[in-house]
Order: sequence, then structure tokens, then C-alpha cells
Amino acid sequence: MTPDEFRALGYKIIDWIAEYRETVEPRRVMSHEAPGAVRAKLPASAPEEPEPFERILADFERIVVPGITHWNHPSFFAYFPSNTSLSAVLGDLLASGLGVQCMSWQTSPAGTELEEAVMDWLRQMLGLSESFRGCIQDTSSNATFVAMLCARERATDDARLSGGLQSIAAPLTVYTSEQAHSSVEKAVLLAGIGQEQFRTIETDGQYAMRVDALRARLEEDVRAGKKPCAIVATVGTTATTASDPLVPIAKLAREYGAWLHVDAAMAGIAMIAPECREHWTGIEEVDSIAVDPHKWLGTGMHLSAYYVRDASYLTRVMSTQPHYLRTAADDKVTNFRDWGISLGRRFRALKLWCLLREQGTSGLVARIRRDLANAKWLEAEVRKTEGWEVVAPVPFQTVCVRHVPRGLRDEEAINAHNLAWADRINEGGKAYLTSTVVAGRRIVRVSVGSEATELSHVKKLWALMQETAGT
Ligand code: PLP
Repeated sequence: MTPDEFRALGYKIIDWIAEYRETVEPRRVMSHEAPGAVRAKLPASAPEEPEPFERILADFERIVVPGITHWNHPSFFAYFPSNTSLSAVLGDLLASGLGVQCMSWQTSPAGTELEEAVMDWLRQMLGLSESFRGCIQDTSSNATFVAMLCARERATDDARLSGGLQSIAAPLTVYTSEQAHSSVEKAVLLAGIGQEQFRTIETDGQYAMRVDALRARLEEDVRAGKKPCAIVATVGTTATTASDPLVPIAKLAREYGAWLHVDAAMAGIAMIAPECREHWTGIEEVDSIAVDPHKWLGTGMHLSAYYVRDASYLTRVMSTQPHYLRTAADDKVTNFRDWGISLGRRFRALKLWCLLREQGTSGLVARIRRDLANAKWLEAEVRKTEGWEVVAPVPFQTVCVRHVPRGLRDEEAINAHNLAWADRINEGGKAYLTSTVVAGRRIVRVSVGSEATELSHVKKLWALMQETAGT
């Protein structure tokens, strides 16, 4: 493709994206393609001969778009918000256009230094002190895995030099709440800590980790000759957005010498609004934090911010210094390849930089406040409507609800009813919600916060919920 051809097609694609964003609302939110339908429309092998790009674009419309679930739709209320603001789309395009690889400072100094700058801007926006340094990890799952590697390294007192995990006499243990995201268990297994040493601690009536139960488990493990390695607390659990009490958990972490990692994947973004910071009181006591701009902030995927107090544990585990990677600048700069698993790194800071500048802190805080208020509106409506329950506190933007039809007492039938009405809404295409099970009860989560979602969309959803659950 020549630059001239690129220019012509590029304009077309930008037009397509702009029109898509303007006209997304009438589309069905959840893709209704049957399993295998997209694949069936694709040839079995790559084409032997070059094809005109117009044909690729036509196939994009015909094959790809019907297989898309529209996360940027204003009636997307499933999982968690994960939008790509148009300024971040442009930032990502610039990164692709430059086509750089930011594995080392020298392979593109701007890649490293812009990342350092925007991670520091975000740190300030979140109200974190200067004792934290940040880097971009792909996802919160990766950030938690990396945190487990740091924790393991600290607990084993430089295992890399002293014989590795296999040389440790006391088995390492990790603690999290029973409401923690599945990525915590995955990280613990990947870090070689083992299922038997993974503890899920009971939660209280608000679905937050019970500190007395944590203490009891730590005591029991130490008595049994185990070594507490890490505690993973959550700020904004996946099911109900509950937050674990960081102050007493940090005290226990200190007492037992365990690394304290905070998974604040989605809800951490709310901390850019100072009034939300009460939900992570004690954050200055923790060792590491994961917060995802790719969820509620609007950068699009693969931009998880990992903040750590002492980066030396990252580099102790993950730095490699083969001759072909060494540069004269190494002792004066940060090489982010040593802060994560991958060597090669996309220039992801660019899209965050574009977003932060184009929106400004005030624009982003206003959007978060709008979403919090919209969730509060829905909570109030549900609470005052007969037959409906709000089943968990609403500290952020997720409202967990349940509908109990008049006269229905059997728990299984109520669970089936709630799953059925949520499925009917999703299949109808007008909105998209997620249901889950909490404390044995089927609930439906309304996750407000898509960039395009205004109060009018929440009102429409509430009318649809009542109509669908009532039929
Ligand atoms: N942690 C929490 C609390 C989450 O809710 C999620 C996603 O839902 C994750 C971690 C995983 O996020 P990621 O896709 O960035 O790995």
C-alpha cells in the first residue's frame, strides 16, 4: 500500500468509525451470531494473491460487524464499562502509524518517558502519593500475576539467587476474599504457589473480606509452618463492587510480612473523584495496586496501570540483560521490559496521553460523577418498586438487583426467573446485562458507565427491566 492509497483509505475508515459511533444506538447490543457463524464466512486459508482493500472493507461490514457485541453502545450494561474514547482511538492510531517497539528506553525514548509521565499524571489524579511508581501492564490479570511474582520474590528473600521456589522450606500462602476475581487464583497458580496454599476468606454481609477470618487463617497457617506471602484485597469486586477494609488488612499484612496487592481494576478509576477515595482508605499502606484505564476511563483494552512502592522486586524477577539488549543508557533510564513479562511493548501510553489531554481531569471526573449519579437514580427507583430488591450496597456504578414475582417463594424458581428475564433482555438486543450468583442467589448486575450512557438510557433500561421481568 502506498502512502497515497493509505491516505484515501484512512479517511474512509475514520469516516466509518465516526458514523459507527453516531449510529450505534439502533444496533442490537449483544451480537446474535451463532457459534461458528463468523468462521463459516471466512476462507480456510489466507489468500494467495493480493486483494483490493475495498473488498476487505466490504467483508469487514459483512462478516466482522455482525459478530460484534457493542461495548460502546449506550445500552451496554454488562460486565464493566470498557470504552475507547475517540481521542484514545486516535492515540492508538498514531501508535500504530509510528509502528514503534518500546521494549527499551533506547528503542524509543519517547515511549518510555511518555509512559513514565502519564503514569505519574494518573497517580496524582487517583490521589496516590509519590511513593508509588507506575507502569502499563496489559491487563489487571497480568498486573496481579506480576504482583504475585514480586510477593514471592520478597517472601523467598531473593529466590532467584538462592535456588528458586523449590529451595524454600516453608510453603508460601496467599489470601484473598471469596468475592475476589478469578484472575487472583490464576495468578497464584501461575506463580507456582499452588492450589493448596490459596486461601479464600469469607466475606461479611456487604461482601467485603472479614478481617477476623483473615487473621484466624494467618494464625493457623503460621502455626502449621507456612509462610504468608501475599494478601490480595479488592476495591470494587466484580459481582457487587464491594471493597475490602484496607486499614486492618494492611496491619495484618505488615504483622505477617505479606505483600499487599490491591485489585482495583474497574472501581479504582472512581478515585479520580476525590469524594470516592473513602473506599480505599488505607491505600498508602499497600505494596502494589492495579487500576484499569481500559475499563472505566476510556483508553480501550490493554492499558492496566500497575503501581508499586518498590520496583526492585519487579526487576529482580524479570530483568534479563543479554548482550543484544544492553545499551549505554541503561544505568540512567528505566527499561520497562524489566517491569513485566513481555519483552516487546506497544506504545500504549500515547492513547492515555491523548485521552487525558483531550478530556482534561475535569472532563473525566464529570463523566465518572455522571455515572455514579445515574447508578444512584436506578438504585432509588428499584428500592421503591414493589417486587424488586437491591441486593448489595451501591458504592460505585453497579446496581445489583433481583425481581421476586408476587407469590413466588421457591428460591430456585426465583433464581430461574431472574436468569430468564436478563437473558430475554440480552436476546432482544435493546440492552445487555450480566447475571451472576452471589451467596447462592441469582442476581442481575446493571453496570452503568458506558461513555455514551446518559440518564435517559438508564431510564429506558429500567422500563425494559420492569416490562420484561413482569411478563
Ligand atoms: N479484577 C476485577 C475486580 C475485575 O472485575 C476484573 C474484570 O472483570 C479483572 C480483575 C480482570 O481484568 P482484566 O481483563 O484487565 O484482566
